[in-house]
Amino acid sequence: MLVHQILKGKKTDSIVTVKSTITVSEAARVLSEKRIGTVLVSDDGKSADGILSERDIVRNLGRVGSGCLEGKVGDYMTRKLVTCTMQTTAQELLEKMTTGRFRHVPVMDGDAVIGLVSLGDVVKAQLTELEMEKEALEGMIMGH
Ligand code: AMP
Repeated sequence: MLVHQILKGKKTDSIVTVKSTITVSEAARVLSEKRIGTVLVSDDGKSADGILSERDIVRNLGRVGSGCLEGKVGDYMTRKLVTCTMQTTAQELLEKMTTGRFRHVPVMDGDAVIGLVSLGDVVKAQLTELEMEKEALEGMIMGH
C-alpha cells in the first residue's frame, strides 16, 4: 500500500497550515478548533518550514512554563522534517514514524507539500485492506 492510496481514504485532503509568526497560543486554538494534533508551518502556504504538534506545546509548557504560549510558533516548531512522497509504502512510513517517534509525516512533491499522513490514517487504511482481503478469501472459500 502506497501513500497516495492512504490519502484517498481520508475524509478531507485539506492541509492545515499556519505561519511561523503566529503565537503558540493561536496555534493551540487552531489545533483545538480543527480537532487535530499537529499543524504544518508554512510561510508561503506551499513549503514545509516546520511542524508544531500538541507534544511540542505540552513539552514547552513543562520546560519553560505558560510564557511559551505568547512565543512565536517559529521558535518552538520542529524544523528538521522527515517527509515522504506519494510513492512511499505504508511499511516505510511506519518505520519512519517508529524510528523518529512521531505520528505525522508531510507528503511532498518536490519542494511543495501536498498532504499530511498520520499514524491513524495508516492504521485505518491497513485495517480496511485487511477487511477487504478477508471478505475476498471468505468469498473464495464459500464459492461466491
Ligand atoms: P507527533 O507525534 O507527530 O505529535 O510529534 C512528536 C514530535 O515530533 C514533535 O516534536 C513534532 O514537532 C515532531 N514531529 C512530528 N512530525 C514530524 C516529522 N514528520 N518530522 C520530524 N519531526 C516531526
